[in-house]
Amino acid sequence: MQDCIFCKIIRGEIPCKKVYEDEDVLAFHDINPAAPIHFLLIPKKHLESLAHAKPEDTALLGKMLSLVPQLALEQGCANGFRTVINTGRDGGQEVGHLHIHVMGGPQPWPRRS
Ligand code: 5GP
Ligand code: ZN
Repeated sequence: MQDCIFCKIIRGEIPCKKVYEDEDVLAFHDINPAAPIHFLLIPKKHLESLAHAKPEDTALLGKMLSLVPQLALEQGCANGFRTVINTGRDGGQEVGHLHIHVMGGPQPWPRRS
């Protein structure tokens, strides 16, 4: 069992404001939003980062990316959105479980994520 904050959210041990869930992925609002709309899309499988993805993860990554526009629209990103995947220490990744940031809502936003 992974001692990882996002794995704990997946298992329901830490609460989240859920946006979407299916057998492969979970999306929930970021606890410290950098935009009026800011949620994270994560795989249920513990993948440390994009740099740890393997060829067998290709379908999962594709599914996640192609889900983003639908979820962004449902959350109210009417005029576009920003996607960010921080990877590794120099990429500014703080949580070691792959996640796609999805940010939207009217500009200006308080900061970049
Ligand atoms: P990173 O810097 O790793 O790309 O982004 C991690 C993100 O996870 C940050 O934007 C941070 O606010 C968010 N985050 C960290 N811990 C929690 C948590 O317990 N719940 C939620 N909903 N978001 C979290
Ligand atoms: Zn994890």
